[in-house]
Amino acid sequence: MKNTKITLSDSEIPEYYLNIAYYLKKYLMKLPDPPLNPVTKQPVGPADLSGIFPMELIKQEVSIEEKIEIPDEVRELYKLYRPTPLIRAHRLEKFLNTPAHIYYKYEGASPTGAHKLNTAIAQAYYNKKEGTTTLATETGAGQWGSALALAANFFAMKLVVFMVKVSFDQKPFRKTVMETNGAEVFASPSKVTEFGKKILKSNPDHPGSLGIAISEALETVVKNKGYKYSLGSVLNHVLLHQTVVGLEAKKQMEKAGEYSDVIIGCVGGGSNFAGIAFPFLVDKLKGRRKTRFIGVEPVSCPSLTKGKYKYDFGDTAQMTPLLKMHTLGSGFIPSPIHAGGLRYHGMAPLISFLYNEKLIEAVAYEQKPIFQAGTDFARTEGIIPAPESCHAIKSAMDEAIKSREEGKKKVILFNLSGHGLLDLNGYDKFLHKKL
Ligand SMILES: *Cc1c(COP(=O)(O)O)cnc(C)c1O
Repeated sequence: MKNTKITLSDSEIPEYYLNIAYYLKKYLMKLPDPPLNPVTKQPVGPADLSGIFPMELIKQEVSIEEKIEIPDEVRELYKLYRPTPLIRAHRLEKFLNTPAHIYYKYEGASPTGAHKLNTAIAQAYYNKKEGTTTLATETGAGQWGSALALAANFFAMKLVVFMVKVSFDQKPFRKTVMETNGAEVFASPSKVTEFGKKILKSNPDHPGSLGIAISEALETVVKNKGYKYSLGSVLNHVLLHQTVVGLEAKKQMEKAGEYSDVIIGCVGGGSNFAGIAFPFLVDKLKGRRKTRFIGVEPVSCPSLTKGKYKYDFGDTAQMTPLLKMHTLGSGFIPSPIHAGGLRYHGMAPLISFLYNEKLIEAVAYEQKPIFQAGTDFARTEGIIPAPESCHAIKSAMDEAIKSREEGKKKVILFNLSGHGLLDLNGYDKFLHKKL
């Protein structure tokens, strides 16, 4: 009988996070340029960040240690859903009539439906340990807010979420998920911050953006004692926590007796792509493998394929340090596509660096083809994917078709970053030709 699911036991949950910076330094002898203080243009030090992040996360942000141990309390919570399954997409392969072997790592198996919980649990843990009482954050489609709400609840902290207005309207039940887990949720731009009020004054119907929501969360943290800020992507420590995905996938691919030729993930801020890619990228850096890595983004928010590689702010109010990244400009407002998690003007500095070094590739797709890919995937594999994840699926399908056309077997692995059961509004519009 052919194997479909490749699973691991609870005891095989990784014991450490894998730090790609260590390998970049060792094998490439180069590291990404550091974040800068916007006023002095000097690299930011730990003290500059201690008002918004706990010290342990700041340490992880700049660490060049190879491995960072995962605390027992965090691994204990990971047991609720990790290790997630690796699935061979036999039925999709048949549908595409391809000699390629397609595998996907199913992060939608997490209780909140996406990979975001991997870092949410870790961030909540370190915050609690250092005395944070309340976390503030932004969320696009609501996946990050839902994950952090659950994690904050596990560690008995409060959470305030600024949710991008267009997603707030498209995905009303995400708010219910966050509130069920005890979070307080505001549509952003909101009336509870000075920056939100300023934007609403000039445009009461502003659709919002991740950049604006980040500014509102930061303003809230700066004004309240005991509050800390938490970010769901982009930063080094967030990408670090996501490496549990690729560490597991690597073991699972070994179990399947295969190694991937192509590894694919959608890219919003870059964390789920980094999570699946980095543990395999190590082999490429060592010169052992020639694996291709593809980050997939929407045409309407093409930070990697069209953005400039330069220092820019991470948010719209320009409160963050300057990050060296591929950016469309901190004032860029992407069109209101349904893949809310991919509507970010910038890209993780680590991913931007790797793209600039030509160690990874990027492609961009329009909204309709990605919903078509998601629909084909649902009808063959049974899972309705998040619109963000549909980008990865579309690219995996295109690679599988190329494999057929070239008559070459290829092993394709992609990260199915989340399910789409709270994104049905987008599917409804696609299926009834209203997109
Ligand atoms: C948030 C999200 C993304 C995009 O964020 P990354 O940091 O690029 O991973 C992708 N897929 C899903 C399902 C998400 O919730």
